[in-house]
Amino acid sequence: MEKRTEGLVIRVTGKEIWVDAGSETVACLLRGRFRRVKEGRVVAGDRVEISRSPSGGGAIESIRPRRSWLSRYTGGRNAASRVIAANLDLLFLVESLKVPNLSCSFADRVLVSAGHGRVPTQICLNKIDLDPGSEEAESVVRLYGTLGYSVISTSAKTGQGLPQLASLLGKGIYAFVGRSGVGKSSLLNRLVPGLDLSVREVAAGTGRGRHTTAYSQLFALADGYVADTPGMQTFGFPGEDEGELAGCFPEFEDLAATCRFQPCTHSHEPDCAVKEALREGRIAASRHDSYLDMLRELRERKKMRYA
Ligand code: GDP
Ligand code: ZN
Repeated sequence: MEKRTEGLVIRVTGKEIWVDAGSETVACLLRGRFRRVKEGRVVAGDRVEISRSPSGGGAIESIRPRRSWLSRYTGGRNAASRVIAANLDLLFLVESLKVPNLSCSFADRVLVSAGHGRVPTQICLNKIDLDPGSEEAESVVRLYGTLGYSVISTSAKTGQGLPQLASLLGKGIYAFVGRSGVGKSSLLNRLVPGLDLSVREVAAGTGRGRHTTAYSQLFALADGYVADTPGMQTFGFPGEDEGELAGCFPEFEDLAATCRFQPCTHSHEPDCAVKEALREGRIAASRHDSYLDMLRELRERKKMRYA
């Protein structure tokens, strides 16, 4: 009799899927029809049902629908939208106040990707010790707070905000995303003492030399997991639709219904309620700029495809 078990995908290589089935980790083979699910390939974080062969190996029999997923579009030679991890419970978007200087553009891109994949996001404004109480820090906390995001000012150096962050980590699947040098590994190190080794592995994955189609994997983090996010320094909008992009900007939502043209892309159209709000300062210029950048990229991408 074939034995079936449920498990969590913790690592996907070119050929094999490693599934944590509770008491053991099983190497499963990909069967043709499960190579692709609706959102892309099977990735770390997917919940699967596997069957066991007498030899100890396994095969994926079914994949549970994803609650959330983190994906992004990467340009270049193998341009495509790719899912990085599935079923994330919380994404920590790490920004730094200084060194490197704050980048709302990067933050907005991550927020759009996370929103698109229904991943809840916690913003960490790290290195707050470098300029505490500055107008810049306060305006960022205010801006994203107004948009409905939770923002915590942190310092991996002084420990500020760390108990708050630690209280958010449980048995779930998490991801730490941010530009190189913002302090992701430093925060992880302080949050989970004794994690040194795997943190370094995660950190090693933040740069150079790793292909964008590299393994998708989870590392154990306290009671839960943290998704590896190798080289995630660019975040193109993972969707295809202009309206969907606008939908990832919560402050546009109510206004969009009152634009003269329907649908409106809030870029060139007259009597656009979003642009009106922008002129009146009810929408931040940095946010509208981020939106326009992503809109332009989406259009260029489509033009290339149909050229
Ligand atoms: P990562 O690339 O995002 O993983 O960043 P790292 O954790 O490697 O940190 C990059 C640099 O910033 C290191 O020199 C850290 O010591 C420093 N750093 C990290 N967090 C803080 C912080 O909260 N305050 C200050 N002053 N420096 C920090
Ligand atoms: Zn409009």
